[in-house]
This record gives sequence, C-alpha cells and structure tokens, in this order.
Amino acid sequence: MTSAFDLTGRVALVTGSSRGIGLSIAEGLADAGATIVLNGVDPVRLEATREVLAQRFGDDRVEARAFDVVDEDAVAAAVESIESEVGAIDVLVNNAGIQHREPLVEVSLADWQRVIDIDLTGAFVVGRTVARRMLPRHAGKIINICSVQTDLARPTIGPYTAAKGALRNLTRAMTAEWAGEGLQINGIAPGYIHTEMTQKLVDDEAFNEWILGRTPARRWGTVADLVGPAVWLSSNASDYVNGQVIFVDGGMTVVV
Ligand code: NAP
Repeated sequence: MTSAFDLTGRVALVTGSSRGIGLSIAEGLADAGATIVLNGVDPVRLEATREVLAQRFGDDRVEARAFDVVDEDAVAAAVESIESEVGAIDVLVNNAGIQHREPLVEVSLADWQRVIDIDLTGAFVVGRTVARRMLPRHAGKIINICSVQTDLARPTIGPYTAAKGALRNLTRAMTAEWAGEGLQINGIAPGYIHTEMTQKLVDDEAFNEWILGRTPARRWGTVADLVGPAVWLSSNASDYVNGQVIFVDGGMTVVV
C-alpha cells in the first residue's frame, strides 16, 4: 500500500537518539520505512542502541555516527560520511538536548552557555550543515524538537526556556530562507514526557501531582506519543506545513 506517510527509501538523521525521545522517534521513522542514522556523544551507548535496532530493522537500515552537535568540524565530517556511505539525508530531526535546573540568579555563565550551545546552537550547526546539501536538491524535512518551554516559563530552568523559545524562532528563520527551495522545517514541542531527563520529576510526588493536575489529558506523555507527529512531519503528508511548532502536550499549553 502506498501512503503519504510512507518513508521507504528515505534517510533520516536523528540527533541525540541513543536513548529517550530521539530513540523513539528514530524507531518510529524506521517503522515507517526509513533508513535511520542514530547519534549521541557516548559511542558505547550509541553502538549498544544501534545493535538493538539493527536486530529489528536490519544492519543496512540502521547506522550510527557519534558526534557532538556543537562541534562544527565533527558535524561536517559526519554529514559528509552519511551522504557518501548511507545516502542523501532526506530528514533531519534536531533532538539532542540537555536540561540544567538551578535558580536563574545562581546560574554560571558556563552552565548558561552549555545549555544554549547544545539546545539551540546545535540545531543551527547541524541544520545549516544538512541544509547545504538539501537546498540544491530542492527537498528535505527538518524537525526541531522544542518543548512546552518554547511557550511557557517555569522557575529554575531559565537557560532551557531561553533556548527552546529561540528554537521556535530558528524554525521560523529556517522557513523564511529555505521553504522557497522546497524544504519544510517544523518543530515538535513535547509536553512532560517520561524519560531519563525527567525521571527525577516523575519520582517527586508533589511535582508528579502537579503535572497530573495541570495536564488536561491527566497523564505524563510517553515517547510513543511523539512518533505519529514525527512521521507526519518527515513525510509527504506534511508537504505544505511550514514553520509550525506542533505541541504534543496533552493540552497543557492551551488550558490555564
Ligand atoms: P535524554 O533522555 O536525556 O537523551 C538525550 C540525548 O541527547 C542522548 O541521546 C544524548 O546522547 C544526546 N545528547 C546530549 N548532548 C548531546 C550533544 N552535545 N551532541 C549530540 N547528542 C547529545 O533526553 P530526552 O528527554 O529524550 O530529550 C530529548 C529532546 O527532547 C531534548 O531536546 C529535550 O529538550 C526535548 N524535550 C524533552 C522533554 C521530556 O519531558 N523528556 C520534554 C520536552 C522536550 P548520550 O547518550 O551520548 O549522552
């Protein structure tokens, strides 16, 4: 059956996909037919993840490249090797990200910079490097993984909030310059999703109660909740969707 959502024959690079949300999105894209390229900074964890997915989808459809999304030279080398050894990158998911929890008045410049670098500048570096290949081909999908903090602030996560807000505007800037060349650049803004990054919050009884009360869907999100929107925004089913950030948050950002 041919479907507008079919990704057979497409190559998708998902940054930060050795675990968590990125891993689930990569798995979902592979399920839809894509050849996936996993990424992380820890090569041992990355290879362990690649082996698990390769058992399911086959060695020829699961690749891995370890690099830091902020390291311009490493990104350029990885993109070059993917394009020559795996194939032209059709889909890029800028997912790599970190959190840093501390009152804003206590945050050191180094911690501020680290979060802005990985959560915002990394999407620019990888996005620009891949777009240089996509633009002459007049085709490509870029998905920037934002957050409810793209829209809403909360105490103790100032650098993250600043980075994720700016990531929405980077999505719009990419759209302004690249949509006319046939690329679609959009964002997905997950709500509170149960992963390693949020395990401490899930274990915190008061915070957990707050999430359940504050979320119209009355539950934490799961990594699987993000797969459908990611497949849609990677596929021809979204060919006229440009510069949007899709909130997948159980309704959190529309109800006060
Ligand atoms: P996670 O479980 O902590 O996984 C983070 C992933 O990013 C890992 O694969 C890690 O690789 C990789 N990574 C970290 N720094 C990197 C760098 N400099 N270069 C390349 N890869 C790097 O995180 P997550 O919860 O899945 O979050 C993934 C994304 O979703 C982030 O952008 C986050 O802001 C966003 N998000 C998460 C939630 C949530 O509730 N969890 C909600 C909204 C948005 P290693 O394994 O090598 O460290």
